[in-house]
Amino acid sequence: MTHSDDSNRLIDAGNQERGDNALRPTSLVDFIGQGNGRRNLETFIHAARDRGDAMDHTLLHGPPGLGKTTLAQIIAAELGVGFRATSGPVIARAGDLAALLTNLRPRDVLFIDEIHRLAPAVEEVLYPAMEDFQLDLIIGEGPSARSVRIDLPLFTLVGATTRSGLLTTPLRDRFGIQMRMQFYNADELSVILTKQAAKLDLDLGADGAAEIAGRARGTPRVAGRLLRRVRDIAAVEAAGTVTAEVADAALHRLEVDTIGLDQMDRRYLSCLADSYAGGPVGVETLAAVLSEQRDVLEEVIEPYLMQTGLLMRTPRGRCLSAAGWGYLGMTPPAAATKQLDLLARTASEEMNTD
Ligand code: ADP
Repeated sequence: MTHSDDSNRLIDAGNQERGDNALRPTSLVDFIGQGNGRRNLETFIHAARDRGDAMDHTLLHGPPGLGKTTLAQIIAAELGVGFRATSGPVIARAGDLAALLTNLRPRDVLFIDEIHRLAPAVEEVLYPAMEDFQLDLIIGEGPSARSVRIDLPLFTLVGATTRSGLLTTPLRDRFGIQMRMQFYNADELSVILTKQAAKLDLDLGADGAAEIAGRARGTPRVAGRLLRRVRDIAAVEAAGTVTAEVADAALHRLEVDTIGLDQMDRRYLSCLADSYAGGPVGVETLAAVLSEQRDVLEEVIEPYLMQTGLLMRTPRGRCLSAAGWGYLGMTPPAAATKQLDLLARTASEEMNTD
């Protein structure tokens, strides 16, 4: 089966792109949003810096494109220490991790993206490294194998994951600081867009920023990507300032609708409505029918559809909500209405028994 090419999906927050780095804020004051989590982090950073100590290991979790990598880099910059980045699937063997750890300088930040995808053997090596700053390595094989213990410099591990549920408990427990990244509201995204436009040397009006912000799925990476495409269209059409009107026309051409859904989202919702009478249907089935990877559905498409209340994830599968039917301009069949009533009743019973 072929999978559709996600790199072409305008609003896919899951793929890093070249433009990301250029638009990244480099200090905490430029990092917008994330309320309490950000303020707490600021305190921990200052405390560690003042003590001249390594900061506690930190776990950042939440959907792609919300600023986990950015925040990890900012932590290192604010601490005034070195930054090394890698990702879970890249560290294939325990030896790879050992090489990374032994090359750290005192108080450095080691960033491991997709940390839930670490191989179990690698994770075992990470535990003592995180807890006691020691590395236990087996050198050689068979009868001549011997174990050596290496002292490591104190360092800060910053782990990022889109799926904290997949993290093993021993690993999760070793993170002293845990921060859940939230979707951004339209005001925060407007500020982010205004800063990004300045970096791109683009004349973006406040109404233009608000127009793009409302359609960026609460995600800065999506905001940045929409902004770059709007800039291209505005440049070709020689529009001066990007006003709400210019932004709306450009986004309309890109088939991103007023709540930020694109063709793929609409295909997902229509498939639920047309082929499965609104569900419930399992994610594997949807992935096969839509020729998409299950991960892409679960990490990129569904979180925002749930956030907007169009989709519900139930133990029996995915269901289109009443708002979802409304979005598609369709009346739910009788069976779907019954199903929705049942779900609402179960939810309120669960709340009453809590
Ligand atoms: P993640 O690691 O969570 O997938 P990134 O850190 O790569 O996300 O962020 C994606 C893009 O969004 C980057 O270009 C970054 O500049 C921008 N970004 C993310 N969060 C913020 C923020 N709070 N303020 C400003 N820009 C942000």
